[in-house]
Amino acid sequence: MEPVLIIGAGPVGLAAALFMTRRGVDVRILDADPAPRQTSRALGVNPRTLSLLEETGVTAAILAEAQPIRALSLHHHGRPLAKIPLDTAALGGAHPMVILPQARSEAHLTKALTALGIHIERDRSAASVSQTKTTASVVLADGETLTAPLIFAADGAHSIARHALGVAFTGDGWPEPWHLMDVDLDGPPGDEGWIDFQPDGGFICLPFSGQTFRLFSFGRPLLERIPADWRIGAVRWQSDFKVSHRIAERLSVGRIALGGDAAHIHSPVGARGMNLGIEDAYVFAACAADFLAGETGRLDDYHRLRHRVDAAVVRNVRTLTRFVRNTGPVADLAKRTLPPIAARLPLLRNRALRIGMGLDHPVSLR
Ligand SMILES: Cc1cc2nc3c(=O)[nH]c(=O)nc-3n(C[C@H](O)[C@H](O)[C@H](O)COP(=O)(O)OP(=O)(O)OC[C@H]3O[C@@H](n4cnc5c(N)ncnc54)[C@H](O)[C@@H]3O)c2cc1C
Repeated sequence: MEPVLIIGAGPVGLAAALFMTRRGVDVRILDADPAPRQTSRALGVNPRTLSLLEETGVTAAILAEAQPIRALSLHHHGRPLAKIPLDTAALGGAHPMVILPQARSEAHLTKALTALGIHIERDRSAASVSQTKTTASVVLADGETLTAPLIFAADGAHSIARHALGVAFTGDGWPEPWHLMDVDLDGPPGDEGWIDFQPDGGFICLPFSGQTFRLFSFGRPLLERIPADWRIGAVRWQSDFKVSHRIAERLSVGRIALGGDAAHIHSPVGARGMNLGIEDAYVFAACAADFLAGETGRLDDYHRLRHRVDAAVVRNVRTLTRFVRNTGPVADLAKRTLPPIAARLPLLRNRALRIGMGLDHPVSLR
């Protein structure tokens, strides 16, 4: 039988290749880029992802390098409001929440794949996908056609597979640009996330590596938002992006499935994108192995198992992000009063924390 084809060697495609190979499924993985991307992008690797990757050895490699994040420090107009410990064990997690640049997480996934004899086929851009009752195929930009029993499309937010399948990407986008910066700072705590609910929107600062911190917010320039007593050093990377919250209406159509950003996008508040995609990859690998062993209903299972979960995460992250983004007197009052209440009420606090940790739902395979 021909190998299952994975389009995209971002974290989700890499994780899918790893999970499937470990289940004895032959895979091929291709990517349009000639070389891996080196930018930090997703920083938060959550306890759920670390549990799913445990048996692959990638968790140990990530934990050896990553920076654990122990608490969230909440502020209102610069004044401390509450400190919330990120006690993942109390929430049912087996690992801490850690910070590692996405390029490093991808490097660890790639190393584990290479050790299993799987090499990424680079500079191979998919132009379209199609299928019959018995086979799926992808046409590459150079005109070559590859066929496979199944395709897992992890080709990012602008997925050509999703377009070719005509699957709607339902949701909305916000017009304002959000700013992101990785910058050296002297001042913020090295093992806490820092959130300041400022009058013109929330400002977030995350420890990153050594003296480098990730800042993000929207509107005003980021460096105008930091406390006056923090000293600013070198800017390592900066980027602007637009925030959208969307979910593909189907996650599998016949023999072709969508995972990761190809299937859902949302704001980085909550640090779920990459993590949620790795969950998709884990579930797809189980469904694909069963399908190839003769359980024909398992591709529909993938849609059934993941669509509900992914849609709920997109909804919850949108709500959390709106809370950070909203401005005006009512929003400001809510930001001053609700976080301290939530910090003191375990039920409310733990619900919000579970969303950020990926512990808000079981990762079901059946
Ligand atoms: C600023 C920012 C901060 C973030 N922070 C977090 C965080 O803390 N935690 C978190 O979990 N997530 C975070 N995310 C989201 C995270 O970066 C994405 O969710 C994640 O990269 C999705 O992985 P993916 O593999 O689905 O897609 P991608 O990473 O986009 O990878 C898709 C791959 O497919 C390839 N490709 C695309 N089209 C084709 C084609 N036609 N043919 C072949 N290959 C193709 C691309 O080259 C790429 O390698 C953040 C995102 C941003 C922008």
